[in-house]
Amino acid sequence: MKIVRKLVPYGKKKILANLMQASGANLALLGLPSWSGLLVVNYHRIGSRESCPFDGNLYSATSERLEIQLRQYKRYGDVVSVDDLDEVVAGKPGKHILITFDDGYRDNYDLAFPVLKQVGVPATFFIATGFIDQPHVAWWDEIAWIIRNANVPALPVSRWFEQGLEISPDDPRPAIARAVGTYWALRGNATAEFMDDLASQAGTGRCGPELACDLWMTWDMVREVADAGIDIGGHTVTHPILARQDLTRQREEIFGSRQRLEAQLGKAPKAFSYPVGQPDMFTEETKQLVHEAGYQYAFSFYGQYESMVAIDRFNIPRCAVDFDLSPAIFQSRLTLPQVFARK
Ligand SMILES: [Zn+2]
Repeated sequence: MKIVRKLVPYGKKKILANLMQASGANLALLGLPSWSGLLVVNYHRIGSRESCPFDGNLYSATSERLEIQLRQYKRYGDVVSVDDLDEVVAGKPGKHILITFDDGYRDNYDLAFPVLKQVGVPATFFIATGFIDQPHVAWWDEIAWIIRNANVPALPVSRWFEQGLEISPDDPRPAIARAVGTYWALRGNATAEFMDDLASQAGTGRCGPELACDLWMTWDMVREVADAGIDIGGHTVTHPILARQDLTRQREEIFGSRQRLEAQLGKAPKAFSYPVGQPDMFTEETKQLVHEAGYQYAFSFYGQYESMVAIDRFNIPRCAVDFDLSPAIFQSRLTLPQVFARK
C-alpha cells in the first residue's frame, strides 16, 4: 500500500476516488479485508450551515447525510466504542471504526444523538466542560461572528496583521481563516488581547453570552446521552491550543475537565481529544499530562488512520468528515484508508 500512497498525491485523490466509485472497485473492496486497524472519524456540528452566524466550517454533515454515513460505517466496518479499544490495540483484526464528535454543540444532542440511536452505532462525544458550565461563544465562532459583522472593509495594520486584514463582503471566509490562523499561533493570554482588539477594530464588540444560550448541550443532555451509551470524553475546559500554554495551565485544563466530567457523570472519562489537534498543538509534555490525569487514550486531528504497526495511545490519528466531502471520497476511505484517510 505504500506504493499506492506514493503514486497518489493529494490533488489526484478525488479523481482516483471517482474512478474507484465509477468502476465498482469500491464496492468490490468493501467486503474484502483490504485493510485492518482503526479508522477514527471526527464530526463537529450537524445540521444546515446556511443560517449559522458563526463558523460554517464547523459543520460536518446534515442529519440526513450523517445517517447515510453511519449506515455505511455499520455495513462495511466494525464500529467500536472506546471500551472496545483495549482489544483493538491488543491486535484484534478487523476494519475498526470509531465515530467521534468534538466540542459538545447542542446539535449533537438534537440531531446526531437521535440518528446514532436509530442506526444503532456507538460514538464518543468529546466535551469542553467550560462551554457547558458557562455557555459562551467559542473563540473560533466568535472570530467568525466578528468578521461577518464587521463595520469596516478591512482591519488596520496591527501587531496581529502585518498587512491588515481585508474582509470581502461577498465571502468573509478567507478573512476568518486568516484570523483563526493568527489565533492558533498566540501564546498564553495574548489570545484575550487579540479577541478584544479584533472586536474593537471591527466595530462589533465582543459576543455576549446571550448568543450562546442554545449553542451547547446542558449537563442534563450530556447525562442523557451518556446513560444511552454514548461515551463521553475530555476536551479541556476552555479549549485552548495546549502547546501554546505553560504546563501549569495545561494541567488545569486537562485535569480540571476530567474532574468536572467525573463529578457530573459519576464516571471518569477514558478518552481525551486535543483541541484543534494539529501536530504542533500538543507536545510530549501534553501527552504526559493526559496520561497522568488518568486517560487511557488521546486523539489528534490531522488525518490518517491507525494501522496498529506502532500505535501511540496518546496520539491516535483521526480524520475529519467535512461538509463538502464527496460520497466517492467517503466510500474510498472505507475501502482504502491507507490512501484516503490521509487528510
Ligand atoms: Zn474542539
